[in-house]
Amino acid sequence: MPRYQSAVLNGTVVIPHVGAVRCDIGIRDGTIAALAEAIAPSDAALVVDARGKLVLPGAVDSHFHIGIYRDLAQDARSETASALAGGVTTVLSYFRTGQHYLNKSGPYRTIFPEVVAATEGQAFTDFGYHIGVMTTEQLDEVDWLVGEQGVGSFKYYMFYKGLNLTADSTRGSAYTMADTYDLGHLYLLMRQVAAAARKYGAHGRVSLSLHCEQAELIRVFIEEVKRRGPGGLEGYHEARPPLTEQLSIAEALVLTDATGCPVNLLHLSSAEALAAGADGRRTHPHLDIRLETTLHHLALTHATAHGILGKVNPPIRTDADREALWRGVLDGRIDTVVSDHACCAEAEKGEDLWKALPGFGGTALLYPYLVSEGYLRRGATLARIAELASANPARAFGLYPRKGTIAVGSDADLVVLDPNREQVVTPEALHSAQDFTPFAGMRVRGWPTHTLLRGQVVFQDGAVRGTPAGRYVKRPVALHAGAKARGA
Ligand SMILES: [Zn+2]
Repeated sequence: MPRYQSAVLNGTVVIPHVGAVRCDIGIRDGTIAALAEAIAPSDAALVVDARGKLVLPGAVDSHFHIGIYRDLAQDARSETASALAGGVTTVLSYFRTGQHYLNKSGPYRTIFPEVVAATEGQAFTDFGYHIGVMTTEQLDEVDWLVGEQGVGSFKYYMFYKGLNLTADSTRGSAYTMADTYDLGHLYLLMRQVAAAARKYGAHGRVSLSLHCEQAELIRVFIEEVKRRGPGGLEGYHEARPPLTEQLSIAEALVLTDATGCPVNLLHLSSAEALAAGADGRRTHPHLDIRLETTLHHLALTHATAHGILGKVNPPIRTDADREALWRGVLDGRIDTVVSDHACCAEAEKGEDLWKALPGFGGTALLYPYLVSEGYLRRGATLARIAELASANPARAFGLYPRKGTIAVGSDADLVVLDPNREQVVTPEALHSAQDFTPFAGMRVRGWPTHTLLRGQVVFQDGAVRGTPAGRYVKRPVALHAGAKARGA
């Protein structure tokens, strides 16, 4: 019997907060059992040769939308396969009641088990869910969701308030299927999440994620842009300008300060949003505020994102915004980089900018783009890249150190990446069900050759291997000790 189930040999191993070191990795029972100067190939049942390559901790793509526009089970299958191609081994997906997803509302006590059941057996990556608490009745389910269901994070959409204002006021919005989705609801939700964070915090972080765009300002700017006529993606940026992010962040921070709720400011897209988030953190050092941006806000501008195909909320902006976000990534103000993956078809973008579905996929570019642009072009350290894509999201969302690092005892979620492999982005290169990509034509250097999930090679040389073996991970992980922590 060999000592190790598998081993990754001869690679340069990138350990977050430590650096790049030459070592071999021995794997047993799906976890890392040894980090050694040299492991003999005969000591392992399976050897992955990483000579000339980087070995990174599997990325934790902490902003994902499984099933937002397609059948949930089908989407879980195709889009977690896409994730493996980008070196992602855990996805944390948003789910909420209302329009899209399962197109219904009700208590999570009945709906959440349905969501997990639909994903189980379909996901190629390990997975977890953040939950959008939409109704007054769901507010009382926060403690149950954390304590019993392993949902360590929640979401509030600042701009949905505007959708409620335009709806039949006696029945709430057809979109949110909620009655009073407003700042009052947010305040109550923050109190609930803050209470859960105090109760379960010893086991890992419990937090609330915020989509920050201000509804009333969006209404005014959309009307102005529509009066001027079609403006393409630049018009879309002007219809939801950075000012709406800035004001929304300010509103959110007042309530964060009042409740002490740990928060994540999602997909910051502009120089103004980054400044507002970073200032908020500096002036509220007693609060727990994390900042996120996306691959598309780092990589694209409204001039390069292929028109209507690049429609997303918040919008893709200018080159100056892109540069400001990169500065935030490099100087440490931004904690995490995510894909905000939301698979849809080119036909659903259509011709009308205002009717097109927002969002698109990008998870297969998570490590490739960060290595290509961040490490090879802009001089970020490899450790920093692994922190942005793996360690920081794992810490923010209650998965660390089981996920998010390369250490003895951690899950053997590993990516072997060839920093010399160059490929032009096409829809096919992303292994997704999406038939287009706003990243098309981008030349990217640094692609995974192998992705390992708990010690098993699940993606190799451009193809997914085996059947979906991803597991639901209850968070925060330390809540579930021993053998139970290995499964659901
Ligand atoms: Zn999103």
